[in-house]
Amino acid sequence: MTAVRVPGTPVIEDGRLVSTSPATGAEAGRLPVATAEDVERTVDRARAAGQWWAGLGFGGRRERLLRWRSLLARRIEEIAELVHVEGGKPVADAVVELVTAVEHVDWAARNAGRVLGPRRVRSRLVLAEFSAHLEYQPYGVVGVIGPWNYPVFTPIGSAAYALAAGNAVVLKPSEYTPVVGQWLVDTFAEVVPEQPVFTAVHGLGDVGAALCRSGVDKVAFTGSSATARKVMAACAESLTPVLLEAGGKDAMIVDADADLDAAAEACVWGALTNAGQTCIGIERVYAVEPVFDAFVGKVVERAGRLTVGPDDADIGPITMPSQVDVIRRHIDDALARGGRAVLGGADAVQPPYVRPTVLVDVPEDSAAVREETFGPTLTINRVRDADEAVARANALSYGLGGSVFGRRHAVAIARRLRSGMASVNSALTFAGMSTLPFGGVGDSGFGRIHGEDGLREFSRAKAITRRRARSLLPSTTFERTPADVARLVKAIKVMYGR
Ligand code: NAD
Repeated sequence: MTAVRVPGTPVIEDGRLVSTSPATGAEAGRLPVATAEDVERTVDRARAAGQWWAGLGFGGRRERLLRWRSLLARRIEEIAELVHVEGGKPVADAVVELVTAVEHVDWAARNAGRVLGPRRVRSRLVLAEFSAHLEYQPYGVVGVIGPWNYPVFTPIGSAAYALAAGNAVVLKPSEYTPVVGQWLVDTFAEVVPEQPVFTAVHGLGDVGAALCRSGVDKVAFTGSSATARKVMAACAESLTPVLLEAGGKDAMIVDADADLDAAAEACVWGALTNAGQTCIGIERVYAVEPVFDAFVGKVVERAGRLTVGPDDADIGPITMPSQVDVIRRHIDDALARGGRAVLGGADAVQPPYVRPTVLVDVPEDSAAVREETFGPTLTINRVRDADEAVARANALSYGLGGSVFGRRHAVAIARRLRSGMASVNSALTFAGMSTLPFGGVGDSGFGRIHGEDGLREFSRAKAITRRRARSLLPSTTFERTPADVARLVKAIKVMYGR
């Protein structure tokens, strides 16, 4: 039986997941849906492949990951087009996403050995007769569950680091972007044909749930906070460790000494890129009173120039058709409670598109301020000073990223944001900085991808001590004498008792 198709909404036909463009309804591809048994089989095969992969060592993996990086860079137009066709994202936005992903593969490949490899660490006076050795070993198989909004950047943010650390990876891409996910594992297999080190399983949420219960050694989840809770609950059954990259409601703070043109430019891009469907997208702005009106004017002028539609427009369709209702509800609620639309508004919602909408003076307890909107809308509220801006920015349970524009106090304000990341005088830039960890606090999740922390996230610390001399103050033996214990007491008082 053929199900009725809503453009962009995935359907299952004859055991296959059919993926379509949210803009045109054109089919992007179809992939077999995995059963729970298929998932377990894939994980078993990945476990064997992972042993081979780990055995290649940092050098062997680096060389292969760099080959994959080169392939991704060479075929950037091809994958950008696929991201565009399947998810509706404008090609230019897709290119920015891909450039960032390629950068992460390169950094993870080049730095895994340095960050995770065996090293001597210092001994201290206590146990000075032992040497200390530390290394970070792979978990084995990492299950990566991804969202649709950045179908390359998000899985790669986990997978490239997990692979570089020596793990095999089984990816469960979003059901909205399975074709892109399959492209990633297929191209990896082109450069690593020997073993199924990086594979994918497809389907709806139940396939993600099956992956959590399949015996993987760690789950790296990126998606909504609601699903993150389910993933954590499923993983709790077997004490499988989890990394959760969940939703956000990031704020931008515009201080009195900010460069308003730069702030408006970054705000419009940070809020509206990918039609606002960005976990670290700017959804709320707090601008201090003296610059509020001028800032709003500059944002409206810039956002009003953006084009909306398929193909070459600045703003593409809403990828997940059901999200349109959320966006509409947030706009309606803000307006009903006294907020004003200075650009767009209720009639900006014309599925599958939403025109840029800027709402001001929106009550802080409205859905548009408190819940993730995931559309090309933003609220700008007036605050007395930076202290009030920080208090409002920190008032939600989300805490992913954030942005601050200003001169004298901007970095200090950024430090005070309750978030895992912040950009000063720019928006979203921390995501492309492969040397920096990425992740949130509170409802935005925990654990870190990217950077040195991201490599360690996918490995277990292994500590080894080795005796190098006889103990002068024997303590960890029943051969110790009362005199040894008395000397130990004396020594600790001399060392630490002052
Ligand atoms: P989602 O939570 O609906 O789905 C994410 C993935 O989880 C999909 O692959 C889905 O099939 C799978 N899934 C669904 N139910 C599951 C279950 N019970 N067990 C296991 N897996 C299950 O999220 P989405 O709509 O795909 O993505 C948008 C959300 O992702 C937004 O909230 C956004 O903020 C967030 N996001 C966060 C980051 C980040 O790095 N923090 C990055 C991108 C997106």
